Amino acid sequence: MPHDHSDPDHPHSLLPPDPALRVKALETLLAAKGLIDPAALDAIIDTYQHKIGPRNGAAVVARAWAEPDFRDWLLRDATAAVSAMGFYGRQGEHMVAVENTHAVHNMVVCTLCSCYPWPLLGIPPAWYKSDAYRARAVREPRAVLADFGVVLPEGCAVRVWDSTAEVRYLVIPDRPAGTEGLDAEAMAALVTRDGMIGTALL
Ligand code: FE
Repeated sequence: MPHDHSDPDHPHSLLPPDPALRVKALETLLAAKGLIDPAALDAIIDTYQHKIGPRNGAAVVARAWAEPDFRDWLLRDATAAVSAMGFYGRQGEHMVAVENTHAVHNMVVCTLCSCYPWPLLGIPPAWYKSDAYRARAVREPRAVLADFGVVLPEGCAVRVWDSTAEVRYLVIPDRPAGTEGLDAEAMAALVTRDGMIGTALL
């Protein structure tokens, strides 16, 4: 059967064009049918946006900087290492950690949609979900990094990791110089969300 999008009676034509409006319409319908509780939805979003945010990821990075054994474990089996810190759950079932060095800079994208390690970084920023970032991060990663103001050391390779529904990536940024005396909390405060996506240096 042909799939005619111009049919005025076709349900597609009833959908508002703006994704935000579509989401709102879906939420209203589901709530009206008693399938979801809007207050529960708000609580989930608030948790990921404000309570988790990128702070869990920053704590993981700070620990990797301070403890070589933990760093090795994180690089070998990130899912287990971050679970041991109490960070696990939806959208973070299979974690892979990749480490920035002077020789390699890692950068994360989801070319298909917006897969992202929620338990470590919270909810992805709007640009992470944009068509432009998803397409350009793979095609011209250095140009995208330049747009973010990232200037890599001479000869540094760029490695782009494409997230999937199965695997989510955490970038371990290069530890800034002169941070040897800092405690875990002070080190974690240096770690930015974009640093852990690979679109910023620290
Ligand atoms: Fe995705």
